[in-house]
Amino acid sequence: MNASQAARPDLRASRLDALARRERTTVLVVGGGINGISTFRELALQGLDVVLVERGDWCEAASGALSRMIHGGLRYMETGEFALVRESLLERNRLLANAPHFVSPLPTTVPLFDYTSGITSAFQRFLRLTEKKARRGGVIVKIGLTLYDIFAAPSPMPKHRFHGRSATFRRWPDFNREIACSATYYDGQISQPERLGFEMVADAMAANPQALAVNHVRMTGTKDGRVMLADTLSGRLFSLEPDVVVNATGAWIDFANEALTPPEARPNARPPRMIGGTKGSHLIVDNPRLYDALGDEMVYYENQEGRVCILFRYFDRVLIGSTDIPVSDPDGLRCEDDEIAYILDSVRLIFPDLPIRREEIVYTFAGTRPLPASDASVVGRISRDHSCPVVPATAGRPFPVYCMVGGKWTTFRAFGEQVADKVLDALHLSRSVSTADLPIGGGRHYPASAGERAAWIEACARATGLPPARVEALLHRYGTSARAMAEELGEQGDTPLAGLPEFSRQELDYLARREDVETLADLLLRRTPIGITGRLGLSVAEEAADVLAGAKGWSRAEREQRLDDFITRLARDHAVRLERTADEFHAKRRVS
Ligand SMILES: Cc1cc2nc3c(=O)[nH]c(=O)nc-3n(C[C@H](O)[C@H](O)[C@H](O)COP(=O)(O)OP(=O)(O)OC[C@H]3O[C@@H](n4cnc5c(N)ncnc54)[C@H](O)[C@@H]3O)c2cc1C
Repeated sequence: MNASQAARPDLRASRLDALARRERTTVLVVGGGINGISTFRELALQGLDVVLVERGDWCEAASGALSRMIHGGLRYMETGEFALVRESLLERNRLLANAPHFVSPLPTTVPLFDYTSGITSAFQRFLRLTEKKARRGGVIVKIGLTLYDIFAAPSPMPKHRFHGRSATFRRWPDFNREIACSATYYDGQISQPERLGFEMVADAMAANPQALAVNHVRMTGTKDGRVMLADTLSGRLFSLEPDVVVNATGAWIDFANEALTPPEARPNARPPRMIGGTKGSHLIVDNPRLYDALGDEMVYYENQEGRVCILFRYFDRVLIGSTDIPVSDPDGLRCEDDEIAYILDSVRLIFPDLPIRREEIVYTFAGTRPLPASDASVVGRISRDHSCPVVPATAGRPFPVYCMVGGKWTTFRAFGEQVADKVLDALHLSRSVSTADLPIGGGRHYPASAGERAAWIEACARATGLPPARVEALLHRYGTSARAMAEELGEQGDTPLAGLPEFSRQELDYLARREDVETLADLLLRRTPIGITGRLGLSVAEEAADVLAGAKGWSRAEREQRLDDFITRLARDHAVRLERTADEFHAKRRVS
């Protein structure tokens, strides 16, 4: 450890101390997925005294399990959710401007098996006469895309195009020969949603010293009108007296409402059930033929059951999704074997000659969509819109609970803004800052054109002494926040990891000390794309454990335990197996 590292204060310890000192807060936001983070940011920017707690890491649940599309939701046109589509498209366009380091245009091709299918059933669905899925043909998709273009205007991206059979096969020679035509339109994709979530937390705290956000802190219940909190890493306990609670726990909203209702009030004041979540799983595959076939486009298609599936390049891999299965318990989800088979079958329908072998799956992930409770018989028909029912104050709980139900990643800003406005209204306060055009984190002053990027890279390389190629990689990974990191790496050295030379020890150390990193999963699965892109070998995990042990002051035994836990969770939740031989493991244990 060098002198400057030793002198740095422990951010987490000081935040936990601040939490312990704080007797009261105006607003407590529970849940650090993208919706809780968004509301926290909105309120912090208005100068409110606001606290955000997340029981795990920022964006570790649904907000890290999305299909990584920033989209209007073409298929919601059919169910007549025009307001949602319009809002989503507006937010998509804003994200392209406010987070250009992670959100980019995604040309999307829809392969179609005929022209006329689905016309009657689409109108029936629109009129709510049926919920059944049915294949959509060219005519109905053309109508949908025309309306989509109208709703998206003014859009920074081109309008849709329709392609007949020969044009379709010129571009997509590997498509199923039964495909009759295709359409291409534009939506958005997000490369690192978890990082964007973290950046919003950091922006909010930088803007307002009264705003306090701590991850790995769980809300456990209420007592004497106070909300009880526990640090999940140390067991340290806290309590706070809020004026308002925002329940942003996604699929756990009903559990959190139960915990927030004092036992004596439960018989009469039990809040209604709000969530009816569905599980969705994705695969990341390393299949060069599929990667080449896709180019820069997403294929957005209906599978055998009429369920919409997606397929697009993600870094240098291919992301494939997803399933949609009702679940009552959102904990402990992972992509199961039958889901893998289902997803691979779906791909075969479109690319029958580009088989994916199971060994090519480098990572899987699953999450629960926190959809509103619904009695729809087809899960795909449950509304993706958001709402904010309020559970009023009750005996033993003198504060109301604002519940963030539903919503998409794409609409987090609008949803957070609406909930914050509702809270501000209730507190008789008014809004002073809008986030509509506010750049986020490393999206600030992001060099937009190729020429500006080249100039940025050259200036940063000159100032820090790092090679331009290295600066370019950092810009790609962290946006303009790369500048501060590059300055530190330029001063302290930039030693490539032995197992993954495109990342360095000092880079991981920088993240570990400054970015709310407490576990190996925080670092390797959420602050960096190392895990999700299948770059995680045992040696990388070992090196990262060394870096984190140094940054966090872990003992040898703690390092071993943390690494062991991480390896177990990686195998269980993401189908990534890092084998440690028993001899190696026991030898390390003996050292400790
Ligand atoms: C498979 C799938 C695909 C999707 N694809 C897309 C897409 O492509 N585009 C799009 O726009 N949207 C997509 N979505 C939707 C989007 O991801 C979610 O709607 C959004 O992330 C929900 O965010 P949230 O903050 O409400 O919930 P979450 O992200 O689940 O956050 C809730 C948080 O609350 C925490 N929590 C729970 N209980 C407690 C407690 N007691 N104390 C403290 N913290 C607690 C949890 O740990 C969790 O982190 C997808 C969702 C899924 C699951």
